[in-house]
Parts: sequence; C-alpha cells; structure tokens
Amino acid sequence: MMNRSAKQRSAAFHSQNGLCYYCDQPMWLRDCAAFARVHGLSRKQARQFECTAEHLLPRSAGGTLRLDNVAAACRCCNWRRGRLPVLIAPEAFRRHVQERCKVGKWHSTLPARPHKDHR
Ligand SMILES: [Zn+2]
Repeated sequence: MMNRSAKQRSAAFHSQNGLCYYCDQPMWLRDCAAFARVHGLSRKQARQFECTAEHLLPRSAGGTLRLDNVAAACRCCNWRRGRLPVLIAPEAFRRHVQERCKVGKWHSTLPARPHKDHR
C-alpha cells in the first residue's frame, strides 16, 4: 500500500512526465540504479534527482496536503527551496532555478538525455 504522500508524489510525477517542476530535469521514483544507468550517472549523482513531493505553499505557511498544492520536484530543488531564508513563490523559484541551470550553476551533473530532441 502506498501512503497518501507516496500516491501524490507518484501522481505529480506522472502528470509532469517525470520532469522536475523547477529544473525540468528527469527524476526517478523508485529505481535509482536504473535511472543512473540510463542517464550515465553514478548512484550518488542520481540521488539528487529522486522525485519528492514539494508543497507549493509549505505546510508551515498554511499550505494544504491536497494534491493541488503538490508538485513533483527533484530532491535537490526541494531541499534548496526549503533552505531559503525567506519563502519564494513557486513561480519565482522556478525562474531562479531555470536561470541558474542555463549557466550551469544548479546541478553539479546533469542526467544525459537519451531521447533529447534537437531544436
Ligand atoms: Zn529539480
């Protein structure tokens, strides 16, 4: 049996096509080893891309546990948002993360994209 938060994590993961809400990188739900293999990462590197349930409005700020307050985010983004000294709105944090990603200053290693579309 999956508990409520595992179910929400899974639902959010699938509705976002397995991509992190903030950094748009692929994540894994259950199989770290398989993810590491597919994306050419070590297990340690793959661990930061574990899918977590991110509460858009944190519980501490009155956010609910309902699915509409949950997004799937990689462990790295979730952890970093949680460590901010002040709460940043999800949209603003997403823009911040995307900017950092663009200049290669967010994830130390990026998962290789086997099916990357070349545009
Ligand atoms: Zn992320």
